[in-house]
Parts: sequence; C-alpha cells; structure tokens
Amino acid sequence: MEIINRRQRMSSVARKIRREQDKSVGLVPTMGALHEGHLSLVREARQMCDIVVVSVFVNPAQFAPNEDFAQYPRDLTKDTALLTDYNVDYIFAPTAEEMYPKGYATYVTVEGLSDQLEGVSRPGHFRGVATVVTILLNTIRPDFAFFGQKDAQQAVIIKRLVRDLALDTEIVVLPTVREDSGLAMSSRNVYLSAEERDAAKVIHKALVKAKEAYKAGERNGGKLVDLVHRMVDAEPRARVDYVNIANADNLERLDKLEDQPILISVAVFVGKTRLIDNILMNAGAKKKDALVKV
Ligand code: AMP
Repeated sequence: MEIINRRQRMSSVARKIRREQDKSVGLVPTMGALHEGHLSLVREARQMCDIVVVSVFVNPAQFAPNEDFAQYPRDLTKDTALLTDYNVDYIFAPTAEEMYPKGYATYVTVEGLSDQLEGVSRPGHFRGVATVVTILLNTIRPDFAFFGQKDAQQAVIIKRLVRDLALDTEIVVLPTVREDSGLAMSSRNVYLSAEERDAAKVIHKALVKAKEAYKAGERNGGKLVDLVHRMVDAEPRARVDYVNIANADNLERLDKLEDQPILISVAVFVGKTRLIDNILMNAGAKKKDALVKV
C-alpha cells in the first residue's frame, strides 16, 4: 500500500492503472477517523474493483467557521493500519494546500438539492462537499465511488453532480452501519458522553417506529414526522433540529405517501453534538437508479 499526498502523483498513478493495466479503480472518499461504516464501503470496493483508493481528507471547505473543523478527530496512523488490513492499494491523504492551492477559485454547487435539510442548518456545506468530490473524481477518475446511506442527502447530491457534469464514475450507495444499540456509526460519536450515547439511541428507535407505522398503513407524511419529533423530544438530552419526509430519489417533500421510495431524515442535537440519521421506506418502489444498491 502506498500513501499519496500529492494530487499530481495520485492522478498519474490512477491514469497508469486505467490505461496501462486496464484495471478497474474504486474510490472511497472519507474524512478519516475510520469506523465500521467506512470499512463497509472499503469492503464492497475491494470486492468490486481491482484497485482500491481510499481518500482521507478533512475538507475545510465543507465546514462553516463555527463548526468543528479544528476538533474533528484525526488519526492517520490508525486509519493506515486499518486500511492495510483491508488490502487497500492507495491512501490519498492530501493537505488542504494541496487540494486548494493559492489562487484556488472554482466551486461546484448543486442547486436546489443543496439548499434544504442539511443545507439550511449548514449553509455552504454541500458546496464544499460537491467541490471536493469533483476534485477527487477528476484526479482519480474511478470506475466506482462508494458512499454511505447515512449521509442520504449527500448521496443524492453526488449522484446529481455526476449526472449533470457527465462524470464517468458510477456512484454506489451502501446501507448505514449501526452500533448494536441502533445508533448510526459516525466519527462524531466520539464527542458523546456515555449518557449522551445512550440517549442518542432514541433517534433510530423513532425512525423505526415511523417505518412500522408506514408499514401498518399510515400514508400521512406529516403524522410520521410528528411521531419522530415527539419520540425524540421525549428524550431530555435530545433536541430535534429537523425531521423531514421526502422522495428518496429527488428529496421532494411528501405529504401524502404513495408508491414511491420514501426517506425520513433527521438532525438531532444530543448535548452539543449534532447527529444525522435517516430511514428508507418502500425502497423497492424504485425501478431504476436505486439509491441503495441491493
Ligand atoms: P465521512 O468520513 O463522515 O465523510 O464519511 C465518509 C463516507 O462514509 C461517506 O460516504 C459516509 O456516508 C460514509 N459513512 C459514514 N458513516 C457511515 C455509516 N454509519 N454507515 C455507512 N456509511 C457511513
């Protein structure tokens, strides 16, 4: 395994693999502090592709000035050991200066999709995400890039970006990996105290309850939103930022639920930590362009 820090080296290595060796390349973009959620993407990439590249880059462009860029957990030594065990071929770990050199001026915005949900609470976040993913896809030109359903809005935005800009990469979205308690794995879970971690279980529990209500025949989107809201608010350490129900493919808000793939997504403060999660319902309704590969 080689750790690459330079964009130019990364792009020439990837070009060689594609052109001279005619091998498929899979990219798993991450911000490091790897956990089982990231590793599930790496495992799938390893199975699907000849060569696996994992990028580890805490992208300053996707953090607002008041957010946790400085505290965000970083441990490249541990990440490298994990990725060695998973037989990854390359780690791409550039510095911020390497990704955004002096004079950098080009940003990518996926309009509409970026302005709702996480985009409301975190203005500029998806501009940063879309920009860094575009740079990574252009540098490496992977056949496949792997993302988690955990960040459902991000996955929808990246699919749109790839389609709109005619990028030659297939986006693969994989299910959310959870702790035994149901809490979605996240690098930010390290911010939680033991009590907060326990309280955070309510998020997945509430989403599961909503899915059960849907399965039992509830077709009023607002009622499912209320159910999640009430259950989370009943936990004293948790505070809802938003609960939203939308078409899982295009994030259009839904009131009356019909035969479409449905996504309930939430952001919840547990103590000072902001956690996001979601649940997919009726995923089978989609005929093509599935959000989650099954
Ligand atoms: P991050 O390092 O948080 O930027 O995440 C890198 C990738 O891992 C993104 O595609 C995330 O959606 C994905 N990911 C993060 N947490 C999970 C999880 N619990 N299950 C599955 N994928 C995840």
